[in-house]
Amino acid sequence: MNVNVKERLCQVCGESKQIGRNFCAFTCESCKAFFRRTALKTIQLHCASNGKCEINVQTRRLCPKCRLKKISYEVKRITKFADN
Ligand SMILES: [Zn+2]
Ligand SMILES: [Zn+2]
Repeated sequence: MNVNVKERLCQVCGESKQIGRNFCAFTCESCKAFFRRTALKTIQLHCASNGKCEINVQTRRLCPKCRLKKISYEVKRITKFADN
């Protein structure tokens, strides 16, 4: 099976390095650590763009809310995919 370049990128922020075996290996270490830190907290996160931020390597620090949302979405997507 060929692994194309896209699959080596973090599915959340697009960073191409340090892909590990986290959540079926779809996030970088930074996003994994962020998710672990943030997902378990019940803090209110604010988004200046109504939850519509595009998350990439540059913006991932700017909006924790959208980053968390994107990670959660990917977790669900991958989990669903794994079930099938
Ligand atoms: Zn990432
Ligand atoms: Zn946002």
